[in-house]
Amino acid sequence: MYYGFDMGGTKIEFGAFDEHHHRLIQKRVPTPRDDYPTLLKTLTELVLEADRQLGCQGKVGIGIPGMPDGESGKLFTANVPAAMGKPLANDLAALIQRPVRIDNDANCFALSEAWDGEFRQYPSVLGIILGTGVGGGIVINGKTFSGRHYIAGEFGHLRLPVDALEVLGRDIPRVACGCGHAGCIENYISGRGFEWVYQHFTGEKLPAQQIIQHYRAGEAKAVEHVDRFLDLLAVCLANIFTVLDPHLVVIGGGLSNFDEMYPLLPERIRPHLLSVAKVPRIEKARWGDSGGVRGAAFLNLLD
Ligand SMILES: [Zn+2]
Repeated sequence: MYYGFDMGGTKIEFGAFDEHHHRLIQKRVPTPRDDYPTLLKTLTELVLEADRQLGCQGKVGIGIPGMPDGESGKLFTANVPAAMGKPLANDLAALIQRPVRIDNDANCFALSEAWDGEFRQYPSVLGIILGTGVGGGIVINGKTFSGRHYIAGEFGHLRLPVDALEVLGRDIPRVACGCGHAGCIENYISGRGFEWVYQHFTGEKLPAQQIIQHYRAGEAKAVEHVDRFLDLLAVCLANIFTVLDPHLVVIGGGLSNFDEMYPLLPERIRPHLLSVAKVPRIEKARWGDSGGVRGAAFLNLLD
């Protein structure tokens, strides 16, 4: 059995999966706010209860919004204050007497998609989340590639490529990013970025959903915006594809529901790749909100 925890700021989701990747147990509990001992106790009880219920000792994985320090295992996770600075995986491992794997939640998202029944055929899978921000993860042969600092796949903090200046204009403001830099692509290609770019060019502040409705109704400003946005997304994706040359790309997050972009992206990406490269298959994420807990559990599928 494979157990996964998807740790969020307000709730923790627990799932137990069998060897066919079917979920047998699903539970949600509130995240203890500032109380680390209570957090450990909550996780321990969920594991031991599942063990009793399923008559086994499941392998445990945790997905966190943040990253462990590569050497000490202490977490950087601003959204889960109870676990901030704590070696959560090591402490839980001692309590439940088995190894605990931990990874960034965007990597878990990518891993969950890579183990989808149809997607499993692809040796390399790139997961990109276009949500409030931009996250991502890289899966190679069924395992996450997290890098030395669990930063691999954090595409959102690449800075705007030169081709983006052709699309947006050379005087495009370098938007300050939460990471401390300016001009990171997440401020332009995330759901929030989609709204920012629209506002920059039209002077109107609208939610992404409404801009998309206007696009679907054929409204000129929205059509022009989507055309510009897809070109921008294409040049950003092309740079990432040139580094990774993935077999499959899966897009998640709120903007992934903008279905019209999937047939329009490949022709816009192609001119920015090396001539020998083909545009990879680009798909919408299939596992939605359950991706985090699936991916956490699947951290143990391969040793
Ligand atoms: Zn940044």
